Amino acid sequence: MNIAEHLKTIQGHISQACSSAGRAPDDVRLVAVSKKQPDTRIDEALAAEIRCFGENRVQEAQKRWQSRRMDHPDLRLHLIGPLQSNKAADAVALFDEIESLDRPKIARALAKEMEKQNRHLPCLIQVNTGEEPQKSGILPQDLPALLKESRDLGLNVMGLMCIPPLDAPPALHFALLKKLAETYGLKGLSMGMSHDYETAVALGATRVRVGSLLFGSREK
Ligand SMILES: *Cc1c(COP(=O)(O)O)cnc(C)c1O
Repeated sequence: MNIAEHLKTIQGHISQACSSAGRAPDDVRLVAVSKKQPDTRIDEALAAEIRCFGENRVQEAQKRWQSRRMDHPDLRLHLIGPLQSNKAADAVALFDEIESLDRPKIARALAKEMEKQNRHLPCLIQVNTGEEPQKSGILPQDLPALLKESRDLGLNVMGLMCIPPLDAPPALHFALLKKLAETYGLKGLSMGMSHDYETAVALGATRVRVGSLLFGSREK
């Protein structure tokens, strides 16, 4: 199987999960997570008409996408990994959406750069739903304060993102994220990866982030 076939299979599963949940299939965007994938697979994905990609490191993403962007002006690049404030300028210049806003310092750095570059990217706040100490994301109880500060800074916060703990049933975390989004009037829900994207769609995901199932396993 190649990437085009994987894509068709995954899109079929998304459509099925949407129709079982009474949702429209175009409610859900597939973000192809291209981190640590070799160039041949990236070009194969582009040939299969995939245009929305997720990356978790700014420098790696620059190397992969800056030149390809010239040939594909319709690319949409999502930052899905933790951002350092000294990379905010590069991130704002390269990406089209930031899914991993997770603390006030980053909100301030992003707001400043977006103003400076006049690029006002939609943002999602990453929530550490499992309250895992090693994981990035704001704790659920600190979400209202970060949301308020981000909005006061002029950021366009349009949703929430989470990565459930490895050893927990993801549905509980997806349901919690959805509840938080409803509480705060946010429409975007980025949740679900290769192993649980159908569950995420059933529970309201508007973006699923699929890497290895689409591309194959990553380089070390
Ligand atoms: C790597 C990554 C993914 C994709 O994971 P797969 O299991 O390969 O689908 C999704 N989201 C984030 C934040 C990631 O870092």
